[in-house]
Amino acid sequence: MWPGIALSLEITQTLYSKKSLFQQIDLYETRQHGRMLVLDGIIQLTQFDEYTYQEMLSHLPLFAHPSPRNILVIGGGDGGILREIGRHEKVEQIDFCEIDEEVIAVSKQFLPELACGFDDPRVRVHIGDGNAFVQEKTAAYDVIIVDSSDPIGPGEALFQKSFYEGLKTALKPGGIIACQGESIFMHQKWVVTLARMTGELFPVQAYANVQVPTYPGGSIGICMGSLGPELVRPARKISHSLQDQLKYYTPQMHEAAFVLPRFAEKLLEGR
Ligand code: SAM
Repeated sequence: MWPGIALSLEITQTLYSKKSLFQQIDLYETRQHGRMLVLDGIIQLTQFDEYTYQEMLSHLPLFAHPSPRNILVIGGGDGGILREIGRHEKVEQIDFCEIDEEVIAVSKQFLPELACGFDDPRVRVHIGDGNAFVQEKTAAYDVIIVDSSDPIGPGEALFQKSFYEGLKTALKPGGIIACQGESIFMHQKWVVTLARMTGELFPVQAYANVQVPTYPGGSIGICMGSLGPELVRPARKISHSLQDQLKYYTPQMHEAAFVLPRFAEKLLEGR
């Protein structure tokens, strides 16, 4: 997906390497970045900077919603998004749908500080294709988070318009979606496609940018759609105890994440 570019991290040990039914799964110890999860040769996360993405993909939609109780997570087999959602005491139920149970097992074995998200009694785990799962749901969720891999391999279905239509149908009135939105530097065609799809389907749409040093280009986007609430400002105050648990998200970072460089603004304006 990144012709002409390579990102190298020094590996000190291979802890796991196996092909599952869906993808090649590798787990490495690195010299500077802790453990690293790689799927089909693509870095998914490192212990060094995983919190930036997990916190923003979770807390942007959860704080934009005035009262999120029923949540769906698609993908995200490492458990990091579940860990972040679990910090919200008023959330009542978290459905989780991941296609590859091997990713969950590897994360439980080697990334316990992420996979602790699975210990939350509010989480109901479903193993299967997230697209098929969503198509069966109607008005069921306040917030849906799509923590997918890239649009090649099993993640491909999660970048199609029919999937986004399914997400909209699965939302309760006033619901919000937040999806892994690729990179404004590296994947402009995907960014435009995702923003256009959400813009056509949702009355409120916004695109946020998050720094992730170990992703190609150093950042990743979050594509959001809302059936009511505005997205670019938190709808609720964050408690001191929750803020103390976080390393990246603050109410100020919430608003700042939607301020994009001029080239990206033009891209999303279709110019
Ligand atoms: N936070 C990291 C990131 O965005 O790079 C990690 C992403 S997470 C590991 C992506 C997960 O999506 C993988 O575990 C993969 O198995 C899962 N996935 C891919 N396609 C899927 C599908 N169609 N339905 C459900 N889960 C899927």
